[in-house]
Amino acid sequence: MTSLPLIPVDPDAPGRRPKMPPRHLADLDLSGRQELVTELGEPGFRAKQVSNHYFGRLVRDPAEMTDLPAATRERLAESLLPRLLTPVRELACDDGATRKALWRLHDGSLVESVLMGYPDRVTVCISSQAGCGMACPFCATGQAGLTRNLSTAEIVDQAVYLAGVAASGAVAGSPPRLSHVVFMGMGEPLANYARVVAAIRRLVSPAPEGLGLSQRHITVSTVGLVPAIRRLASEDLSVTLALSLHAPDDDLRDELVPVNQRWKVSEVLDAAWDYAARTGRRVSIEYAMIKDVNDQPWRADLLGRLLAGKLTHVNLIPLNPTPGSRWDASPKPVEREFVRRLRAAGVSTTVRDTRGREIDGACGQLAAAQDQDTDVSREAMA
Ligand code: SAH
Repeated sequence: MTSLPLIPVDPDAPGRRPKMPPRHLADLDLSGRQELVTELGEPGFRAKQVSNHYFGRLVRDPAEMTDLPAATRERLAESLLPRLLTPVRELACDDGATRKALWRLHDGSLVESVLMGYPDRVTVCISSQAGCGMACPFCATGQAGLTRNLSTAEIVDQAVYLAGVAASGAVAGSPPRLSHVVFMGMGEPLANYARVVAAIRRLVSPAPEGLGLSQRHITVSTVGLVPAIRRLASEDLSVTLALSLHAPDDDLRDELVPVNQRWKVSEVLDAAWDYAARTGRRVSIEYAMIKDVNDQPWRADLLGRLLAGKLTHVNLIPLNPTPGSRWDASPKPVEREFVRRLRAAGVSTTVRDTRGREIDGACGQLAAAQDQDTDVSREAMA
């Protein structure tokens, strides 16, 4: 159909030196923080004290850490609490249950996160890279290419900030405590492997080391970088894996998810089933329903045959058309028939809700890099 984009190089490769942000306490585990605090000439217990503010009380501003002597506070703020995320714009929709935050990073890069409140849980969708190098043609982030990897703390700080928003009671009708984190914002999390795994460790370590979330409540979504999926399976973590499949056949997947040119459908599914076996966790299969592209009954049947009997669940995502895209969402009757066929094959299937569409906060709409000139305005969330 179209010429296939090349898979871009790793931004960490020699010769490309992206400007990473200053170190922050969320980059370090508790013993690393203790070492650093001692090097600064402060007693080691200060590390726990500052960590308690940040992870336990969700206080990110050193000025609010008033139990620290002023000189100490200044010293620790400089070395452990640099400002990583500057809010540029915050928007709410769905009666305040969905909130999107656009951040500017220290080098001017823009990234986004989304907070979603439900009656029984609060989820944040966070970004792992500024931009993305995976070039999926239906995804807004994929169009702009990759700027750089986020640091561990830049990833964690998105969750801590939005956990603070939830704790302030801003999400009416939802519990105040952040419970779920999905790596479904901008970027390919497994292409920023070490920092993403460190970020997951901060999210699941109990306070004051981390946020104390349940591993089962963390979802890492990937285009299917097979070696990284296998490596993740060998960590002592059992987070949920979501695989962005989008097509059951290599011909189409080569186009929709260009990394398929490197790791084919059968290889990526093998890695997913090994992940499920190692962790005991059901793998989510993500499938954007694109009109007349991947929504044919025969593709539903083929997908059903590939997935039948496996520890898996299919999430169909109504395509969120990106500006200028030639693609559209599948009509509802087509979507229903797709669901019916998958279920008939014995595959558990649901259609994802489309939270955040009005504020461009839904799947694949996070394209902050194209948004450089927007005014600084804070709506609803301040
Ligand atoms: N790089 C990761 C995380 C990206 S976003 C990944 O690809 O899994 C999370 C999900 O949103 C992915 O399944 C992605 O394919 C999907 N998505 C991207 N653009 C979309 C769009 N325009 N409509 C619907 N889903 C989209």
